[in-house]
Amino acid sequence: MHEFRLPGVIHFGWGAFDRLGDEASRLGERALLVTGRSAMKKTGVLGRAQSLLAEAGLAALLFDEVESDPSGSTIDRGGKLAREESCDLVVGLGGGSPMDAARGIAAMAVLEGSIIDYLRGKAVDRPGLPLVNVATTAGTASEITSVSVVLDEERELKAGVRSPFWFARAAITDPELTTMMPPALTAATGLDALTHAAESYLSTRATPPTEALALRAIALIGSNLRAAVADGDDRGAREAMALASMTAGMAFANSGLGLVHALAHPVGVRYGVAHGVACGRLLPQVLKYNAAAVPERVAAVGGVLLGRQVERPEDTVEGVESLVADVGVTIGIADLPIDEQEMPGLAQDTLASGSVRVNPRPVTEEDARAVLDDARRAG
Ligand code: ZN
Repeated sequence: MHEFRLPGVIHFGWGAFDRLGDEASRLGERALLVTGRSAMKKTGVLGRAQSLLAEAGLAALLFDEVESDPSGSTIDRGGKLAREESCDLVVGLGGGSPMDAARGIAAMAVLEGSIIDYLRGKAVDRPGLPLVNVATTAGTASEITSVSVVLDEERELKAGVRSPFWFARAAITDPELTTMMPPALTAATGLDALTHAAESYLSTRATPPTEALALRAIALIGSNLRAAVADGDDRGAREAMALASMTAGMAFANSGLGLVHALAHPVGVRYGVAHGVACGRLLPQVLKYNAAAVPERVAAVGGVLLGRQVERPEDTVEGVESLVADVGVTIGIADLPIDEQEMPGLAQDTLASGSVRVNPRPVTEEDARAVLDDARRAG
């Protein structure tokens, strides 16, 4: 037996953004509009969201304080604001950080305490405010999932909190919005999507529906990420990458992830590496590690990525390395200023991630250190 959950509705395609007003007006009258500090203003996307909400008759209060790794205190502040201002709906707009923060804020508008309590294990016992998430990148898929990645500032630990209550009531994935991403962001978010799909396919909780979605995403990324990075106006490549992000999200929202994500959070937080870049740097090493346990499945990832018969898992690793390099991301972590004495802490934080528990090959602290050591020699 297995179960499969998704947002209430997913609007996908060119012009899907225009559905924001309709969807929001079905769910509330007073929205808290959650976004980052500047990107959405510069691109004009924030202005369009505000117009769409106003035309649909909603009042929208702006909360534009989300940082690149949303902290517990930011989310708690947003939740308090939503409560004090009697908002009945939260709209997230942007990449992974604003959408994750919007999810946390919608929850904390209703829950007591701090989101950090829930990160540390307190049970989420009720739904939050209804949530609409609008994606402007193609990778994180936070519009699709039920997880909020939060920075616990006190412990310097980034981790995901999730609840079946936390799926958006409506998710909007419009490739048009992703055409504004510069090449480096296109590359980083695309490698995040590839990692989601590969880790979902290899997860011990993978099911036939999640496998089908994950493989579709990998094939789309293999044929389109280079083109989307090379020419941001390539509409075919942009649409394919938005679809890949969405399908990978549908898969991993139900299967969980794996060791790459467990490693990427501590490495990202401690050395200031963007999430998607950290995933791209570490994915080849982790595929090598997992190949010892599930060689055929690692080979299958390469088969769809490269669009040809792949029998050796090493060919998958090489195919991923060439894609990572082609889109301008460094392989491995040799260039990061990692001090030997920080390694035990990094390994401990890796093991603290729930993603480790569904990795196809079991991971001890020593294993995590060995993978990190390999990654320090790679590149
Ligand atoms: Zn990710």
